[in-house]
Amino acid sequence: MPQRSYLDWNATAPLRAEARAILAAAQDVFGNPSSVHAEGRAARRLVEQAREEVAALVGARPSDVVFTASGTEANMLALTPGIETADEKAPRSRLFLSAIEHASVKSRGRFSLEASEEIAVDADGQLDLNVLAERISRTPRPLVSLMLANNETGVIQPVAAAAATVHAHGGLLHVDAVQAIGRIPCDMAALGADVLTLSAHKIGGPKGVGALVRTSDDIHIDALIRGGGQERGLRAGTENVPGIAAFGAVAAAVRRQREAEAVRMLALRERVEAGIAAISPAAVIFGAGVERLPNTTLFALAGVKAETAIIAFDLEGVAVSSGAACSSGKVQPSHVLAAMGVSAALARGAVRVSVGHETGEADVERFLCAWRKLATALSNQERGIAA
Ligand code: PLP
Repeated sequence: MPQRSYLDWNATAPLRAEARAILAAAQDVFGNPSSVHAEGRAARRLVEQAREEVAALVGARPSDVVFTASGTEANMLALTPGIETADEKAPRSRLFLSAIEHASVKSRGRFSLEASEEIAVDADGQLDLNVLAERISRTPRPLVSLMLANNETGVIQPVAAAAATVHAHGGLLHVDAVQAIGRIPCDMAALGADVLTLSAHKIGGPKGVGALVRTSDDIHIDALIRGGGQERGLRAGTENVPGIAAFGAVAAAVRRQREAEAVRMLALRERVEAGIAAISPAAVIFGAGVERLPNTTLFALAGVKAETAIIAFDLEGVAVSSGAACSSGKVQPSHVLAAMGVSAALARGAVRVSVGHETGEADVERFLCAWRKLATALSNQERGIAA
């Protein structure tokens, strides 16, 4: 049995061996990738090799990958009225986003609150395509931002269908694939994404490295950070060479292993969910009726508070998280569950279990043991109160 069982892979993943090796080696490749001498060219080679690997992961051309300092920054870069196509050089008038987006999209990027609107999701947490079509039909040149998979529930969004609608209305589609990458296929052409966000640390790369990928350089985006002409003028600042190189290394690993890993993770997730149902038949698994990431379970049991459960799990050596966004240790009600129509009382108990490539059956068993203990203590407490 491992010392601790880390089941919070949607928050971040431990560094993969491939990333660790190249991070260490790249520290000595100290040249500035913009320099023309041999030292500079060696650093440039690392960056360009990584660009190829990241592009291959999403079926894009290397020249369409822009490295950023995070997924958050990539989202901020994409969400701008100044995103134009070669044949339509006019600002995007309005941003549409789903009601369940990550905070980095929910904050609207460089759009004002007034110039944006949220599209509802159904009780399973999937975007309502009819509402999307109806809302964007009245807007010239809309920009639509959708996540491919939700970070709390794991619910996969109907992105390809949304893309058809968006394009039929002359719009552009930004896809936040931060949680989907390495877990489900993320080919940009199949998704119909015009721009797509990635983050290295969710797939075992270092923190503080992300990418925005365009389908072509016909999509012009006004830079968020201006200065030198790095990253084709879209993201100024000397590149984080070791971080980018490590992103490339994990992108290559994930591309090789994704299909087999998805099957393995799904088996673990099914064991988690069967165990929860056996121990607590009244527990609710959110989004259970629709397609979800193979690694994510968000569940709640009426009467259990997430804070209490997470601390109890932690004491048993299990790291899980609350479905709600945590800021400075304070648990906020989840906007995702609220958008799905889940009562605040039940949402307060939501616990997220997310597995990854290092998770084994022993980790799942430890989680279920801890849950059994917690659920038993709770029902004993209730019986005590009732007596
Ligand atoms: N988008 C989604 C769906 C996420 O889950 C996250 C991180 O949790 C981000 C964006 C932000 O990525 P980063 O942590 O690299 O800023």
